[in-house]
Amino acid sequence: MAATHHLFTPDNYHRLQACIHCGLCLASCPTYTVNGKEADSPRGRLALMKYIDREVEFDAKGAFRHIDLCLGCLACQTACPSGVQYGHLLETSRSYQRQQIKPLSWIQHQLLNWLTSHRSLGFITGLLALVQRLALDHLVRALRLLPHTLRFQLAGMPDITGKAFSQTHDAVFPALTSADEAQGTVALFTGCVMDHWFGEVHAATVRVLQWNGFNVFVPEGQTCCGALHAHAGLEEEAEDCLARNRTAFQGIEAQALVVNAAGCGAQLRTTPGTDQDTLPIVDISEWLTDKLPRPPKNKLSKRVTYDAPCHLYHAQGIRDEPWRLLELACEQLLPLPETEVCCGSAGFYSLMHSDMSQHILKRKINHVQALAPDILATGNPGCHLQLQAGLRETSLNIPVHHTIEVLDMAYRLDGTYRHAFGLDD
Ligand code: SF4
Ligand code: SF4
Repeated sequence: MAATHHLFTPDNYHRLQACIHCGLCLASCPTYTVNGKEADSPRGRLALMKYIDREVEFDAKGAFRHIDLCLGCLACQTACPSGVQYGHLLETSRSYQRQQIKPLSWIQHQLLNWLTSHRSLGFITGLLALVQRLALDHLVRALRLLPHTLRFQLAGMPDITGKAFSQTHDAVFPALTSADEAQGTVALFTGCVMDHWFGEVHAATVRVLQWNGFNVFVPEGQTCCGALHAHAGLEEEAEDCLARNRTAFQGIEAQALVVNAAGCGAQLRTTPGTDQDTLPIVDISEWLTDKLPRPPKNKLSKRVTYDAPCHLYHAQGIRDEPWRLLELACEQLLPLPETEVCCGSAGFYSLMHSDMSQHILKRKINHVQALAPDILATGNPGCHLQLQAGLRETSLNIPVHHTIEVLDMAYRLDGTYRHAFGLDD
């Protein structure tokens, strides 16, 4: 099918032309590393975008197959010496694709809505909790009752309670320090999947903040950050999420909005219209580095390694901070080779492009297997699910935890901390 409208505005076309075809980004691209095809490299995809924009008879539908195979990991953007804003160009292309070339299928659209709306996610979460309680997930995997892609997703699931964190906890958590040690108030972004499936990460985040002198406030009415919609080219839905969050956060009195999911943080802080002046948006690792008046008294006697989420490392440029927190928490921290390379999760990518996703993941799992850590730390729910599934499928008994959970584990070695939060010994 030939494209009938220009893909880019003159401004964006100018951005595209910043690419000088040097190829220095190629080695950083996970899809190019797997298949070696120029069309599946950043340089190749930028060239395809240009053809879609300029060539009337060009097969845009065919070209979008290569653009679809892009993870959106932004490793190429980090590697590019010419400052090509690949992420912006990719999202513009995908938005054009949805409007002019190929809308999302009904099932893709529904999946997106189910996993980002609190109501449907609540229902799915309740169902999954029941499946886990009856150990049906183990049965499904052992008897291979579902296609591999779905069994794989089940394998990565954390233990879920069936209730969202925001529905089961208070909205305000007071600092647990004396008044002269108080550091102020922060707001917590709870998100959608994080809220329903990773309540333990939110609980650990709140505990560590309270212990270090912060009041934590969970604003009502907040919703999905819109990242999955934006990555799928659904600009309007992404903007709708942003608008609802803007309303939820308007006028709240806090020093920062703390986010503990890399993808949500990248979406919230890099989207135009987010008011960063009145309420800075920060990742939890970034916020806590240099703000821990009460660091853990004891370190975990465990071998821990860390895999950097692309939306922390590449999209937000947050690289050392999680490592610095882990240094406070662990006796042995092992550098993971290619930590900055995508794990192949990328939102729905692992469902839509499972072959490529599995190839990329295999390389990551091989690196983890060679290190044989006791814990693999990361900082994004998609990476968490993907890495845990990959480890379980490879029969490696290595748990995946959020960086903040590892820090909380170190604090929990101290009886005073456990007592303050009513935690079991
Ligand atoms: S975003 Fe990632 S997958 Fe896509 S072209 Fe860049 S490096 Fe390759
Ligand atoms: S995107 Fe950047 S690194 Fe890649 S070919 Fe173009 S100019 Fe070179």
